[in-house]
Amino acid sequence: MKAEPKDSPIMPLLTQILELQRLFRDKVCRELPVPARKTRINNYILECEKILFSPRLFREICLRLATLLAGHNPGTDFLPLIRNLEDSTLEAVAVTVQNSLEPDLVLAMEISVRELRLHKLTPQDPQALAGFFLAALVPFYTAFARQQMLKPEDWQRGWCPVCGQYPVNGYNRPGDGRRILGCWMCETEWAYSRMSCPVCSSSRQDGQLLLTLAGDCSRRIQVCDDCGYYLKITDCTQAAAGCDLQLENAATVFLDILAQRKGYRPASHPHRYDEAVK
Ligand SMILES: [Zn+2]
Ligand SMILES: [Zn+2]
Repeated sequence: MKAEPKDSPIMPLLTQILELQRLFRDKVCRELPVPARKTRINNYILECEKILFSPRLFREICLRLATLLAGHNPGTDFLPLIRNLEDSTLEAVAVTVQNSLEPDLVLAMEISVRELRLHKLTPQDPQALAGFFLAALVPFYTAFARQQMLKPEDWQRGWCPVCGQYPVNGYNRPGDGRRILGCWMCETEWAYSRMSCPVCSSSRQDGQLLLTLAGDCSRRIQVCDDCGYYLKITDCTQAAAGCDLQLENAATVFLDILAQRKGYRPASHPHRYDEAVK
């Protein structure tokens, strides 16, 4: 049986954020249907296309998210800022992120917030503000991705076929045990060899190491000795279904701490670390 996610102090908030994002994902799907794609995927879909966006829906989710966050921590209040922003500015957030030359969406949003000088309009920390806008933009990405109707077998590369982000975690699915990786941004899932690293694609024998925790045999960390990035993998081969990778990611922060203490870096943000090294 699949182990239930362990409780961590931030789980209730993360679960509420995820519920809100999925509620809005369904709303975006209903209001902004994506036309059927006619071309093959080359590098990733959103490299050449744009998400469908609505400043009205974006404002709605920003307000809901801000209310949720302020309820948890009164010091984190984005409500006054959101109420004061024009629709054109909200639209500019989405456009600037998508036009960014920076492929990592976390970094792209941090750059966009500074470019649009939004951090000047609130006492909140610029990085927190970027994280907030990115969380509010997620439903537009997940709605776009869901409407692509991709099957896991349609793609066999290390990065997300829809938005190009690298995965933070994955699972071995029930039945055939194939490795399924998931996108932390748009929730697309795709099949990828368990013998290879999604970041550097090394499949050198002995290059992929597994770290396990005593007492938890369903979760492990796969680290790549060639590039130093890691993935969190959940074994669902004996479970009735695969797992919810977003919830599983939030429930396995202890694995991130373990991997990062050993000097490994999350596969989800290779560009972030490459930048730091330069
Ligand atoms: Zn994606
Ligand atoms: Zn690697």
